[in-house]
Amino acid sequence: MRDLRVAVIGAGMAGIASVIKLREAGIDDVTVFEKADEVGGTWRENTYPGIACDVPSHLYSYSFAPNADWSHTFSPGDEIQAYFQRVARNEGVYARVRFGEEVTSLRYGDGRWELTTSSGHRDAFDVVVAATGVLHHPNIPDVPGLERFDGASFHSARWDHDVPLDGRRVGVIGTGSSAVQITTALVDRVARLDLYQRTPQWIMPVDNTPYDEAQRHAFRDDPALMRQARDGLGRAFADHFANAVIDADSPAMALIEDVCRAHLDTVADPELRERLRPDYRAACKRLIASGDFYDAIQRPNASLVTERIEQIELAGVRTADGELHELDVLVLATGFRSDRFLRPIDVEGRDGIRLDEVWAERPSAHVALTVPGFPNLFLLNGPNGPVGNFSLIDVAELQLDYTIQLLDLLRGGAESVEPTTEAAEAFEQARVEATKGTVWVTGCRSWYLDDRGIPAAWPWSIDHFRDVMQAPDLSQYQIAGAPVGADT
Ligand code: NAP
Repeated sequence: MRDLRVAVIGAGMAGIASVIKLREAGIDDVTVFEKADEVGGTWRENTYPGIACDVPSHLYSYSFAPNADWSHTFSPGDEIQAYFQRVARNEGVYARVRFGEEVTSLRYGDGRWELTTSSGHRDAFDVVVAATGVLHHPNIPDVPGLERFDGASFHSARWDHDVPLDGRRVGVIGTGSSAVQITTALVDRVARLDLYQRTPQWIMPVDNTPYDEAQRHAFRDDPALMRQARDGLGRAFADHFANAVIDADSPAMALIEDVCRAHLDTVADPELRERLRPDYRAACKRLIASGDFYDAIQRPNASLVTERIEQIELAGVRTADGELHELDVLVLATGFRSDRFLRPIDVEGRDGIRLDEVWAERPSAHVALTVPGFPNLFLLNGPNGPVGNFSLIDVAELQLDYTIQLLDLLRGGAESVEPTTEAAEAFEQARVEATKGTVWVTGCRSWYLDDRGIPAAWPWSIDHFRDVMQAPDLSQYQIAGAPVGADT
């Protein structure tokens, strides 16, 4: 077997899993390049008040590292970050990470990727695994005058913990998952909270039950219980949510809509209730999970501002009706640039093909993982993958299992493996066709939709994803310098 040198970009959830699963497969020469000074990715960067994961914690855990000590059904962000740090420490991942090294370019030639970092470090690898995340680059809204605001202003993913909040006037722009969590966490601490809503959202009520010590003890005592909990949550999540959103006409989808409508009906003030009512179908945008948002927005010091933001001024936000909303702090909970996969890394593949050119219109990858012309490059949670429908941890683990099978070809003597253009195009065509039955195309604006209005997402079930990831169909791959016996 040939020894492979593997570079992993990013030490977040998928990067940590890469080191562990590659080692388990016998691939030990792995270097992780991380631009920050700590592991954790999303959970290192998003530290805003109220942050939690809307995938239940026992499901949002690695299959190989169950955690008996989750405090809640949906545990808070700092606990999740501590979990990733702990797993990374216990599994010796830290020793593999070059912190403070931002990868700036990748160039492929003669079966190797030459990798360069911002510090000028250069090295060559047989394989690159990009674990760079999906929702990573903050979307800064194009509202005029943002720079003129005299108070503190920051994006939800760049929270400035030095800015005092208690007793102050805080504005939050956006009504996505981040804004909803921030609002519920802050409303009782601040003098006034203005929530600037461009588009109302459907909210699924969820009960965030804490686990008590007896339950944690039982999980510790019998890890099989945790596996059962994980499997049960996975099944329930798939049946009641993931399989519903890909079939807009399904009874499960109708049930989600009924639950969301009934939840909205709990808002007492009819005028406020109607301003909170979306004019599109539930889950068309990424569904928000919150059991206490409607309570928060009905507090006397909370105000839902639905007038269009005209501009930001020295003292606050001026809305189109002429009113100036004076503020001390302005939070931009305005989401992420989900089309920025891998960029700004400058990637040059085989024969000088540039990723920026291949992706000039939009990013795309064969089975959300590999790109024609870019051999031995694997994009975990890559373009058009199952983002938002399932636990991304499951997705990354399944993709790694599939990747490792392709790496076995390289270890067996092949020089390179990449998808054929025909296979990638056929996949993309089938994917686009399948999106037509999803709830994401029923008439809303969302970060799921690409520049054509087509959902950049996996439009099939998790079971289908598992099937596809079970084993690569080698007829879809071009294998150079193939080992004897490989079906090219
Ligand atoms: P998001 O869902 O993309 O929401 C961004 C919000 O900002 C939207 O309400 C959007 O309004 C608004 N916005 C953007 N530009 C604006 C502008 N120029 N003027 C006014 N409003 C503007 O972002 P997010 O809340 O950060 O969540 C992103 C994703 O991260 C979620 O969908 C979820 O997958 C994940 N997430 C999950 C959790 C969790 O697990 N609980 C928590 C946070 C995030 P429009 O709707 O009108 O575009």
